[in-house]
Amino acid sequence: MNSFEYLTASNVSEALRATGESPDAAYLGGGTNLVDLWKYDLTHPELLIDISKLNELKQITNNANGGLRLGALVTNADTAYHPEVENRYPLLSKAILAGASAQIRNMATNGGNLLQRTRCYYFYDAASPCNKRVPGSGCPAINGYNRIHAILGASEQCIAVFPSDMCVALSALDAVVNITGPNGDRQIAFHDFHRLPAAKPEKDNALQSGELITSIDLPAEGFEQHYSYLKLRDRHSYAFALVSVATGLKLKDGIIDEVRIALGGVAHKPWRSPEAEEFLKGKPATAESFEGAANIILADARGYEHNRFKIELAKRAIVRNGIMALDPSSQRPGAQPSL
Ligand SMILES: Cc1cc2nc3c(=O)[nH]c(=O)nc-3n(C[C@H](O)[C@H](O)[C@H](O)COP(=O)(O)OP(=O)(O)OC[C@H]3O[C@@H](n4cnc5c(N)ncnc54)[C@H](O)[C@@H]3O)c2cc1C
Ligand code: SF4
Repeated sequence: MNSFEYLTASNVSEALRATGESPDAAYLGGGTNLVDLWKYDLTHPELLIDISKLNELKQITNNANGGLRLGALVTNADTAYHPEVENRYPLLSKAILAGASAQIRNMATNGGNLLQRTRCYYFYDAASPCNKRVPGSGCPAINGYNRIHAILGASEQCIAVFPSDMCVALSALDAVVNITGPNGDRQIAFHDFHRLPAAKPEKDNALQSGELITSIDLPAEGFEQHYSYLKLRDRHSYAFALVSVATGLKLKDGIIDEVRIALGGVAHKPWRSPEAEEFLKGKPATAESFEGAANIILADARGYEHNRFKIELAKRAIVRNGIMALDPSSQRPGAQPSL
């Protein structure tokens, strides 16, 4: 580890002021990703600003528009088990509980979950080239071992996926990220928060230097009647998604009135297809309809040597999850919480 300064911020202004004074500062939430990256010698902040004591960011409150505000420093566990989240946004609850392990969810914060880095093996190997870590050094995953990598939205610079489960549900719910920073407060629609790699894979999201996530807003619509989160992975605990699907439906007499489908484990950001959602509206909620949507979502998918299987896996997961969403009590393997 490098030598560094450590500051415990007692309020948001103090955290922002400290960041402004150091070009190489990092906020510390639960530390479950940042400390790992540090141990692997992949990040070396000179100033660590511990924000874990910022009680103003540890609340879950109702919004005037009927939605819910999730503080950035509420833990993943406290969010998943909060009665308002369990009752009104069970899709989010299930997605969070499908991630990591109980111990990690007790430490991990909502803000940190949005900012966790990819799990690409080459990214975590400091001795390996990697455009995301060292721009211009190359991407060994493209012709290497790419089993967990992207099938949608990748570039010639990077084929990594964003590994979060929580963010797949937040994408399906059309959440909004609240941010404060040196230039004031701003909001970013969830769809615009994470970015595709294109020519700048080193940049994961739309956050500017020094900006702090303060909370995440959920709109009033939570799809509490018809929802499902399906996570397909190599083992039941401590494993990131090969493919995951968050589905929320509103039905009228068996016909789809409103639908959201977001995919995880397939791209550099949670993947939505407005065309597929439009296709499903007004159609009966059947396996055939979901199969039609799956074909639209995966139409431009591109597999690499070790991950071509993900294209068919994603199609089948979309259909299966659509059917499970009709009756959330019918959850089958792959939809239970991680231990
Ligand atoms: C073994 C293991 C298995 C895991 N499995 C899964 C899984 O299956 N699914 C899944 O979704 N996740 C999984 N995770 C990832 C875990 O969910 C994340 O590490 C966690 O959510 C990060 O939150 P944190 O508060 O610990 O972030 P930290 O590690 O504290 O921070 C992460 C990054 O966010 C920045 N940051 C933190 N809070 C803020 C804020 N409010 N504003 C601005 N910047 C901030 C930090 O500076 C850092 O860059 C796993 C992690 C581990 C270690
Ligand atoms: S896929 Fe992205 S993160 Fe992985 S080695 Fe290539 S550039 Fe690095």
